[in-house]
Amino acid sequence: AHLDRIAAVDGPVHAFLHVDAEGALAQAAESDARRAAGAPLHALDGVPIAVKDVLATDGLPTTCGSKILEGWVPPYDATVVAKLRAAGLPILGKTNMDEFAMGSSTEHSAYGATHNPWDLDRIPGGSGGGSAAAVAAFEAPLALGTDTGGSIRQPGAVTGTVGVKPTYGGVSRYGLVALANSLDQVGPVTRTVLDSALLHELIGGHDPRDSTSIDQPLPPLVEAARQGATGDLSGVKVGIITELSGDGWQAGVMTRFQESVDLLVKAGAEVVEVSCPTFVHALATYYLILPAEASSNLAKFDAMRYGLRVWPAEGASAEEVMRATRDAGFGDEVKRRIILGTYALSSGYYDAYYGTAQKVRTLISRDFEAAFEQVDVLVSPTAPTTAFKLGEKLDDPIAMYLNDLATIPANLAGVPGISVPAGLAAEDGLPVGFQILAPALADDRCYRVGAALE
Ligand code: GLN
Repeated sequence: AHLDRIAAVDGPVHAFLHVDAEGALAQAAESDARRAAGAPLHALDGVPIAVKDVLATDGLPTTCGSKILEGWVPPYDATVVAKLRAAGLPILGKTNMDEFAMGSSTEHSAYGATHNPWDLDRIPGGSGGGSAAAVAAFEAPLALGTDTGGSIRQPGAVTGTVGVKPTYGGVSRYGLVALANSLDQVGPVTRTVLDSALLHELIGGHDPRDSTSIDQPLPPLVEAARQGATGDLSGVKVGIITELSGDGWQAGVMTRFQESVDLLVKAGAEVVEVSCPTFVHALATYYLILPAEASSNLAKFDAMRYGLRVWPAEGASAEEVMRATRDAGFGDEVKRRIILGTYALSSGYYDAYYGTAQKVRTLISRDFEAAFEQVDVLVSPTAPTTAFKLGEKLDDPIAMYLNDLATIPANLAGVPGISVPAGLAAEDGLPVGFQILAPALADDRCYRVGAALE
């Protein structure tokens, strides 16, 4: 049914870069056989899933939305993908994304933009717009995304889906093509909070192949989602982040945000306002740390090891081949960030830019720590606006970066966050997202409060 749906709607939506009908059907048949034999089944056995094209999939192309990886087929699975296969989830295919996960609209994909199923003239968010659009358009019931600065939560918000960024280290990054290692996390994109909890419990947990993986069991996420679904939040203290709402935010977004806050109060939660003063510097901090890490990570695309190789002339030197390959293989946004990152890391500037950004990052973590001494969870709108028109911000990188104002602090501090649908904005009829943030390792709180809003 999902393959039929993909065939019917993915032309105009373009959520998928690669559909593996044969593989998915074979996995579904195996699932049927297990069921028929009465074998013990995982709760998601047989439920199809779409995977963002930044995760390595054995035998399936993995392009990261870039020409430089066109035609590359990894010889191994990311740990999260191996876990999907082991639990019997048929993999429908790989979803579109901004090149190397840099962007907020999926327009930076080298393979064409994804369109928002709510309005095909609008962006589905990014960088994981393909995963969010696939779920929103009923092409897949579940998807995996990655969130470095908001790439799961912001697409979730603008497509009316649930998106989760787990605690840093809570889900393995082995086999995730790194954008910024200290910020990246893999997480679920689904239509309900309970679905996300089920998927998160499946993909999460310690992985010795990821040196930053936390060697501790996950908190009980499914149980928390079920508890929240009873609609009782008595004893839960919620903090509205002063710096992430108010003036400059779309009126219809703020109205829906306030309505969700009212629902939390009705459910018995105590709501207060909490100030996190350094959050106003989060965007600037992120756009030094992220390009620095990204420029270093992208150095491996040297025309020798993976994918594309361009020969500018016969007898060209290795350096000339490398230059021609990177020139042809990387898009403008990737080049922009390589330049930013190498500049911020260069000798004489390192302390002033990268070093200062790392210090501000610590201050942002301390703001979270102080806030979580007062409240159990923090809330804000997920994104300042609903989905904007395709092309609207493409020539204005700063306007594009501003979409992640509310999502970036969580990545800098490594804390978990969820975006849940909060209804449609009155002025444009487009989905609004409500963000819930919790302390590191307390992902269960996101699920409890999120489920209470469904
Ligand atoms: N939009 C942000 C960026 O461009 C976030 C990306 C992400 O989370 N992968 O960096």
